[in-house]
Amino acid sequence: MFIDSHCHIDFPELAARMPELLAKMEENKVSHALCVSVDLPDFPRVLALAEQYPHIFASVGVHPDYEDTPEPSVDQLVELSNHPKIVAIGETGLDYYRLTGDLEWQRERFRTHIKASRITRKPLIIHTRSASEDTLRLMREEGAGTNDGGVAGVMHCFTESLEVARASMEMGFYISFSGIVTFKSAKELQAVALEVPLERMLIETDSPYLAPVPYRGKMNEPGYVAHVAEFIAKLKGVPVEQVAKQTTENFFNLFKPLAH
Ligand SMILES: [Zn+2]
Ligand SMILES: [Zn+2]
Repeated sequence: MFIDSHCHIDFPELAARMPELLAKMEENKVSHALCVSVDLPDFPRVLALAEQYPHIFASVGVHPDYEDTPEPSVDQLVELSNHPKIVAIGETGLDYYRLTGDLEWQRERFRTHIKASRITRKPLIIHTRSASEDTLRLMREEGAGTNDGGVAGVMHCFTESLEVARASMEMGFYISFSGIVTFKSAKELQAVALEVPLERMLIETDSPYLAPVPYRGKMNEPGYVAHVAEFIAKLKGVPVEQVAKQTTENFFNLFKPLAH
């Protein structure tokens, strides 16, 4: 069984096709999916999905790309995450690619999420793009990860260097690979995936974006995470069952979805 550790199935284009998505998950042996929150106004629909379906988990957080949205407070995140199906804080992080200018608000928002994660003991889902240096710096300053009494988390949709992967793993973080790793052009990322041990790895779709080969350019969905796993198995020269078993175990170790 595979688990999609990061998707946005609450987005209307996917939510409208739920029966189809669930059928595809079953067909491709995808047992669970984590529906990741991107802002507070849409959080109720994320929670509703998790409450409706036993094999859907959810997170609460405000994405760094969402500029004009209510800013969350630590208290708010702590309160909203107090629910058995909310297994993580995020997605949060820094994105200097999509937005430019004075992004101090992004860094403040990131700090807020790290604080909430430390209080709730729920792992962080971190998005980082063109901002790895500041991302790691803030993680250290705020005590993200397991080195300073915080909790672990995941660097989601990883596209950074091996050095960034190693620095994150040293803080107890997992590295999650999306369909990007299957792209022909992603040679550098494939080299990183080869070095990241399966014991530290998660897999995801980030659907509706970034469909893996052979669906590249089409709308992505959780069932397609099986193709990410198959690619990684080939890359590492191991049976796909091993990738399935280990990444599923990692998911349960990190998010402890049944313990809340
Ligand atoms: Zn992201
Ligand atoms: Zn996402």
